[in-house]
Amino acid sequence: MSAAPATTGLTARGSASAGSAAAADPVGCSTLEEVYRRCRDLGMRLSRQRRMVLDLLWSEKSHLSARDIFEKLNDLGRNIGHTSVYQNLEALQSAGVIECLDRASGRLYGYRSDPHSHLTCVESGAIRDLDVELPAELLRQIEQHTGYCIESYTLHLTGRPRR
Ligand SMILES: [Zn+2]
Repeated sequence: MSAAPATTGLTARGSASAGSAAAADPVGCSTLEEVYRRCRDLGMRLSRQRRMVLDLLWSEKSHLSARDIFEKLNDLGRNIGHTSVYQNLEALQSAGVIECLDRASGRLYGYRSDPHSHLTCVESGAIRDLDVELPAELLRQIEQHTGYCIESYTLHLTGRPRR
């Protein structure tokens, strides 16, 4: 019997060995250099503007709208148009290089492309990335109940700061 830790700890990757289409890199990218390499492998041109967008997402490590990204790049003195920001974000997210969250207020983009969970603050709207590992027993029950083999999962949690 394997010793799979049946904890609800928030440190391990929230993925049950995700078998995604990108067989070469099924768990996403862990460094900006790997993201660059992955873009090249996908045949995506790494234009100056595309690198600007990726660099910003990786330095911010949060979930930003196209407008946020445009404004932050311009605040940094980077010469990039809104249309270019938007087109690069769409290209990167449709290639699975970055994440995209569809929220009522619009799309938000994040640097991670591997399966992970989110905690949204109901007071500020801030979204945190979380790595939640469901207990193996719970996953087994879900598989029995649905007849599906669970490959990955994403939890959406909401909460407010504890006082
Ligand atoms: Zn995220």
